[in-house]
Amino acid sequence: MKINIAIDGPSAAGKSTIAQNLCKRLGYVHLDTGAMYRCTALKALEKKIPLSDEEKVCEMLKDTEIVLTPDGRVILDGRDVTSEIRQDHVSMAASDVSKLQNVRKDLVKRQQEMAKARGFIMDGRDIGTVVLTDAEVKIYMTASAHARALRRLLQNQEAGIETGDLESIEKEIEARDYQDMHREFSPLVKAEDAVEIDTSDLTIEEVCDKIYHLAEPYLSMQEKES
Ligand code: C5P
Repeated sequence: MKINIAIDGPSAAGKSTIAQNLCKRLGYVHLDTGAMYRCTALKALEKKIPLSDEEKVCEMLKDTEIVLTPDGRVILDGRDVTSEIRQDHVSMAASDVSKLQNVRKDLVKRQQEMAKARGFIMDGRDIGTVVLTDAEVKIYMTASAHARALRRLLQNQEAGIETGDLESIEKEIEARDYQDMHREFSPLVKAEDAVEIDTSDLTIEEVCDKIYHLAEPYLSMQEKES
């Protein structure tokens, strides 16, 4: 049987990049749960629904389809919003809607349903603590605020996404992390059984190797079973 791997941590710590690379190596599927909060925020902004109006945002979600394709595209109600949801103002709006308990309940239910078949690497803020508490491997990924801001700037520039300068990105990241770590429901915390990896001075390859080694005992069991 395949396993599930949970990766949590603050913004731009490298979670998605590592998950994508590792998925290629393992033949697993990446689920970027942040994209679901971003879609929720984008649609609420477009519909001019106040981001603190729990009832209205939840009502909106009932009629919302979010598809994460295996090749990393994000489809909101049939529309490709892969780049749009990465804009800076959507990031903070995603953090705002993610404070709402019933929004979390709705999205967590969808995430658990998706990962049922196993063979997923899911990244977010509450994967190891709430969504996939039974994941065989749990990682808490961190990096210095400066390293994270630099990565986000380069990522945005490469993808042609409208972006602020390094200083403003660092400020935005710090404000968002503070909000994510101090919210009432499912704040970002390291799961007791998660392994912490600081990626500030590590290459993508080195981080993937570390996680691969943690997964190896389960993967060899998987080989024996098949
Ligand atoms: O991971 P990403 O930066 O795309 O996530 C955007 C926002 O969505 C985060 O700042 C956080 O507030 C929220 N989020 C969450 N729980 C998750 C994933 C993301 O609350 N599992």
